[in-house]
Amino acid sequence: MLYVALALLLFALVLFWLASRQRREAGLPGGRVIYTDTRAWGAVEKPLYDHLLELTGKPDYLVEQNGKIIPVEVKSGRTPEAPYDSHIFQLAAYCLLVEKTFGKRPPYGIIHYPSRDFAVDYTPQLESSLLDVLADMRRDEHRANVERSHEEEHRCARCGFRGACDQKLA
Ligand code: SF4
Repeated sequence: MLYVALALLLFALVLFWLASRQRREAGLPGGRVIYTDTRAWGAVEKPLYDHLLELTGKPDYLVEQNGKIIPVEVKSGRTPEAPYDSHIFQLAAYCLLVEKTFGKRPPYGIIHYPSRDFAVDYTPQLESSLLDVLADMRRDEHRANVERSHEEEHRCARCGFRGACDQKLA
């Protein structure tokens, strides 16, 4: 149980780190609007886990399409014009975990916003950017101080770490 909790904590740290990171120089796939049939989506019972990367996460749904397993992440709130970077990286992590778990590489994943769905291609470039992010995150884990990477008050206002953060805005 402790093992799972630690793994979940690690993944939470990844997401926190991603959310506070400025847009990376590596180009991210922007995502394309698609129509999806939600009846085919199957809820995921247990988190997926990769012991080599010590990465875990639970997509909201998995859907099988043409022999491929596609992760689906559901987001609430305002539907953006294009997926947020943090959402793209989160989806990429799920694609990686699906490949590690089922031995089949998803060609893309789906981000479901309230009024629009985006397919985000899981390209080798996106995988490489994700691995870079994970490596950077692990390096930052061992640093006593990590500089705030943004000047956006609204991020801090919604941040779950603001109570412990000495760099919060407003
Ligand atoms: S409160 Fe701190 S950790 Fe949270 S977004 Fe602001 S600067 Fe980042």
